[in-house]
Amino acid sequence: MHELSIIQSILESTLAVVQDRSETCTVDSIDLQVGALAGVELSTLEFLWPAAVGDTPLADTKLQIEQLPGKAVCSDCGKSFNIGFYYDPCPDCGSHFLNITQGEELRIKSITLVSAPSPPPQGGGLPPNLNFDWNEGKPPLPGGRGGGLTAPQRLKNQMVKN
Ligand SMILES: [Zn+2]
Repeated sequence: MHELSIIQSILESTLAVVQDRSETCTVDSIDLQVGALAGVELSTLEFLWPAAVGDTPLADTKLQIEQLPGKAVCSDCGKSFNIGFYYDPCPDCGSHFLNITQGEELRIKSITLVSAPSPPPQGGGLPPNLNFDWNEGKPPLPGGRGGGLTAPQRLKNQMVKN
């Protein structure tokens, strides 16, 4: 499907940008410009986007699409006008000799990156190595908490012991 391959190339370009950054960051949103003559079904693109990026680092990325109207200049009479389809004639003289000046775009206008937050100092976001002896070798309790202690309390106890 045409729109799927477009999404694929958006993905590849965006991930290349992310990988070029030295710090870890996530992609908040992508602004896409799509010309009216680019032959892209915007509704299909928007419909496919969530599923297509679901297993990628862009799963939470918003796709913002700006549609650019088609514009043409008549080669015969010089009239500038908006054009909806490639084969529309000049509204003034009926000529089909037109220069398309806008509407064929399909490009990423901008990518909004946010630096990935470092793990919060306490509560739910502990890095895996600190979760290691959460239950001290016992099978996980229903609800996932060991001994009634929250993670920060438990860590504090360990620091006191050591
Ligand atoms: Zn004309």
